[in-house]
Amino acid sequence: MLQRTRNGRANTVLVAGGAGFVGSHLCDALLARGDRVICVDSYITGSEDNIRPLMNHPKFRLIEKDICHLKSLDEPVNQIYNLACAASPPQYQADPVHTLMTCVAGTGNLLSLAEHYRASFLQASTSEVYGDPMEHPQSEDYRGNVNCTGPRACYDEGKRAAEALCFDMLRAGRADARVARIFNTYGPRMQPSDGRIISNLLVQTLSGAPLTIYGSGNQTRSFCFVSDLVAGLMALMDVDPNPGVPVNLGNPGEFTINQLVDMVMTIVPSASTVVHKPLPQDDPQRRRPDISRAKELLGWQPTVSLAEGLRLTADWFTASMRPDGRFDNA
Ligand code: NAD
Ligand code: UDP
Repeated sequence: MLQRTRNGRANTVLVAGGAGFVGSHLCDALLARGDRVICVDSYITGSEDNIRPLMNHPKFRLIEKDICHLKSLDEPVNQIYNLACAASPPQYQADPVHTLMTCVAGTGNLLSLAEHYRASFLQASTSEVYGDPMEHPQSEDYRGNVNCTGPRACYDEGKRAAEALCFDMLRAGRADARVARIFNTYGPRMQPSDGRIISNLLVQTLSGAPLTIYGSGNQTRSFCFVSDLVAGLMALMDVDPNPGVPVNLGNPGEFTINQLVDMVMTIVPSASTVVHKPLPQDDPQRRRPDISRAKELLGWQPTVSLAEGLRLTADWFTASMRPDGRFDNA
């Protein structure tokens, strides 16, 4: 079905970060409903593999560029999704200044394009804006507990600044900006080497390496399967009128890291042992979204259970293994 904009034209959608894990699934979903997609990506953490099947699609185009330097486009767009930013802690901390500039200068550039083309804009924000939360579960009204000088600040404070930019542009009537606060998301196409918990555990169990638990493993997270997240992002972009407030998108099921390890070991039985490593500085102890707002405004809620999503993800990692039992980039 060809999706129409609110004034009846077909969508041309810019997806910044479209070669990444979430972004590539978003490109797939937009193309599947008939939109034209312009993917902008610098490949800093994304991969050409994620979008290779799209390269010959008549409605897909890649612009290889860093959003910190993206000042203009050569064709109009009517929707802009900003997913461009490393999301895994080791990756966003590898070049923290660039991460912060991506969030601030890069988001600023994309908002200027949204203003210029009168395009709707969706910012991929994060549950990290709540930091190590003092309220549980986290609703959008909670203002967070973030260390602005720690190693996670480039990401947490960068995303908070990006939200401020979005709401300033919205209040000034300069851009139709929307903000999704995304909680931990997983699924096929996570990079084996990206360092996040679910990709680490699956790579480790499939290759027979020890499973790494940071700290006691009693810290919690809520894990959303990528297809559910993409549906939520598209619902927030398309809802009319603009809610004008941030919206949490995540799966409210809450699991300790120890419980997650047990589930992974059940789904992918292996001889792997468990090793404990130090808890990274400022690692949040608890995280679980209150998704009442998304349910009410978007009619959205996740449909894929953690067990089902882990099975689908494990199948994908199994299929990506090399014959020698190792992974590229792991
Ligand atoms: P990812 O690292 O797989 O994807 C990010 C993509 O952005 C990559 O393709 C990367 O090359 C590109 N990129 C990064 N900086 C760029 C720049 N300056 N210019 C151009 N391209 C750039 O991460 P992901 O998990 O797909 O996350 C996508 C978005 O969702 C990010 O903005 C992230 O902050 C947000 N988010 C993700 C999660 C999650 O659990 N996956 C949770 C909260 C928020
Ligand atoms: N973690 C872990 N082992 C790993 C990777 C991560 O125990 O191999 C922990 C990490 O310390 C955190 C949780 O799992 O408490 C989720 O980490 P991830 O990097 O996936 O996401 P984030 O910390 O950004 O929520």
